[in-house]
Amino acid sequence: MRTFDYARAQSPAQAISSHAAPGQPFYLAGGTTLLDLVKLDVMQPDRLVDINHLTLKQIEPLADGRVRIGALVSNTELASHPLILAHYGVLSQAILAGASTQLRNKATTGGNVMQRVRCNYFRDGISPCNKRNPGSGCAAIGGHNRSVHAVLGTSEHCIATHPSDMCVAMTAIGAQVTVQGPNGVREIPFSDFHLLPGQTPWLEHALQPHELITHVTLDAPLANSRSAYLKLRDRDSYQFALASSAVIVVMDGQRITEARIALGGVATKPWRALEAERALVGQKADREVFTQVGNDAMQGARAYEHNAFKIPLGQQVVTRNLRDLTA
Ligand SMILES: Cc1cc2nc3c(=O)[nH]c(=O)nc-3n(C[C@H](O)[C@H](O)[C@H](O)COP(=O)(O)OP(=O)(O)OC[C@H]3O[C@@H](n4cnc5c(N)ncnc54)[C@H](O)[C@@H]3O)c2cc1C
Ligand code: SF4
Repeated sequence: MRTFDYARAQSPAQAISSHAAPGQPFYLAGGTTLLDLVKLDVMQPDRLVDINHLTLKQIEPLADGRVRIGALVSNTELASHPLILAHYGVLSQAILAGASTQLRNKATTGGNVMQRVRCNYFRDGISPCNKRNPGSGCAAIGGHNRSVHAVLGTSEHCIATHPSDMCVAMTAIGAQVTVQGPNGVREIPFSDFHLLPGQTPWLEHALQPHELITHVTLDAPLANSRSAYLKLRDRDSYQFALASSAVIVVMDGQRITEARIALGGVATKPWRALEAERALVGQKADREVFTQVGNDAMQGARAYEHNAFKIPLGQQVVTRNLRDLTA
């Protein structure tokens, strides 16, 4: 059995200084990713710094129209908060499409942003995996790579999808991640927070050592917008996405004047489809336009042995979401 220390922090400063002591530390929030991976011996902490007693549990409107979410707000609280339901329906829908009620009650906003990949070779603890064991190779390329492996943003070193639903909606909405560390507080644009695997798949996010996520601040909602999250999966509940889309549009009559499109389940990070957005703005809401926009969203996709079906599925999940949303 592997032993580790446990420390309970009462303030962000205390959490950061506990985290900065020698050894391999991890912050413990809801534990729904971390404790699983510790039990599987994939994450091997010397110390868990429990952050559940920090006062980071508020959802607050800001004077400039943005909404600030504490890192410890649970997924359930966030999805059901009146501000989120009124102005960010896509976020509520995305969260409710993920995991199960019990998991969402425990899972936190910061933990969801930081959740690890669901690749079976990463989680088995023994296969070659560049994420778990840098330089050991990638068992998924040439192995079984159907459901939790990507067709966008992959590299020859890792092809695992980013698993979060919540982060896909945040990518479409636009957000800032506030982090506090030994060198103070800084803001990271949400689109820069998750890293592509490239040559260094073990680097998954833009946090510096010992930094703690304290808040995620959503951009002000687009006026008069409508939005929806559509998730396609093998089973209709309690299952990760094969392909998903978060879509926000503003319409003037039948014409689309603003659009945000993000994809999940098909890419190695929450994927903003900027080309597809540009192609949609100024167009009439029309089936042919949506088909073209779906194709644009998957531009540059590269399939592996078992996941070629994700390219048409990714196109469909955008096309169908747009069609239903504008109907
Ligand atoms: C069976 C199952 C099914 C699931 N299905 C889905 C799904 O369909 N869709 C989906 O999106 N998700 C799904 N999830 C994942 C779930 O959403 C995440 O496990 C959860 O959001 C993680 O949050 P947590 O608070 O429990 O994080 P923890 O497990 O506590 O932490 C996760 C990681 O984040 C780090 N961390 C936590 N908080 C902070 C912080 N404030 N600052 C810095 N680092 C931090 C931890 O050190 C750890 O490395 C599923 C999980 C399970 C177990
Ligand atoms: S896809 Fe990524 S996580 Fe999976 S085995 Fe390859 S390197 Fe590891």
